[in-house]
Formats: sequence, structure tokens, C-alpha cells
Amino acid sequence: MRYAMAIDTKKCVGCSDCVVACQTENNVPHGYCRDWIVENVAGSYPNVEIEIRSERCNHCDNSPCVRCCPTGASHIIEGGIVKVTHNECIGCGACIQSCPYDARYSHPDGYVDKCTFCDHRLAKGQSTACVEVCPTNCLYFGDLEDPNSDVSKALKNREWKVLAPEAGTKPQLYFLT
Ligand code: SF4
Ligand code: SF4
Repeated sequence: MRYAMAIDTKKCVGCSDCVVACQTENNVPHGYCRDWIVENVAGSYPNVEIEIRSERCNHCDNSPCVRCCPTGASHIIEGGIVKVTHNECIGCGACIQSCPYDARYSHPDGYVDKCTFCDHRLAKGQSTACVEVCPTNCLYFGDLEDPNSDVSKALKNREWKVLAPEAGTKPQLYFLT
């Protein structure tokens, strides 16, 4: 089992429904987020290309945030999901500094927080909140080791890239181009 997500940059319209759904599902405090939208504009008029990406923690295979955590609060669970045990986090921020994707934030209650791939929903047989609400169905989630999962099928049929591969983190968000 290896959970991963593919994001179709050709179908994402940047509506932020995924961001709002995540904030609601995971009680993210006002002014913070676990996922976010990036819009990259390249070229000049009339030859302009826009890439819109829904981003979140990459649940990296080689995660510096886990390696640098002095208390073990940051750890990896089944399926490769990177999590933070809130009551073991001392809020030192080492993980925030180590993440090349700026995927973590300091919660006002004194711990570090980030995307969990909605593991509490996965345990109930549901998909992630962001996948459920996306109006263009541009997010594909599932088990990379299952060839019939939504994410495997999406990656099989399209070109894709990962962000900051040079960082060596082996990220598990795949952006369909
Ligand atoms: Fe850690 Fe950042 Fe990778 Fe998430 S994206 S696993 S927080 S290094
Ligand atoms: Fe670990 Fe918390 Fe420090 Fe991050 S802020 S490195 S999770 S103790």
C-alpha cells in the first residue's frame, strides 16, 4: 500500500473548493490551510500558458521533516502517510524549515500541523475531503501499488511531473501536465 495523489493541472480551475473542504473537515484555524492553490503564468500575450495546481504535503518517501524531528512527533504511518502526533510536538519548527514545499504551519495551539491525506476518512473507506468536493474531478487519489486505483490509472494515461525533484525527497504528489 502506497497512497499518492495525482492533480490534473489542465482541469483545475483554482476555485479553492478543496481548500475550504479541508479547512472544514480538519478544523484548520482561520487564516491557515493544509492545502492551497498555485497559479503559474508563463509566456506573454497572446501566447500565455497558465498552470493551476492544488498543492499539499507530498507525503515524501524520503522525508526530511521526519528525519529532523527531535521528538518523533513527525512520523510515517501505513501507506506512507506522513503525520504529526500533536501532543508529542514541541513546536520547535525544525520540520517547517526542512520542508522544500512549505507544506507545514504552526498551529496557534503550539504544535505543527499539515495534510494527513485525511487518514481518518480513509479508515472509514472514504476518500479525502478535497477529492470528494472537487467540482472538476481533477484530483485522483489511491494506492499506487494497485493498478486499478484512480491515481494509478491517471498516471498511466498522462505525462506528469513532481515538484522540486532535485530536493531528493521522493514526493508522492504527481502533477498531470
Ligand atoms: Fe515532509 Fe514537506 Fe515532504 Fe510533507 S512535503 S513529507 S512536510 S518534506
Ligand atoms: Fe517535530 Fe514538532 Fe519540532 Fe516539527 S515542530 S520537528 S513535528 S517537534
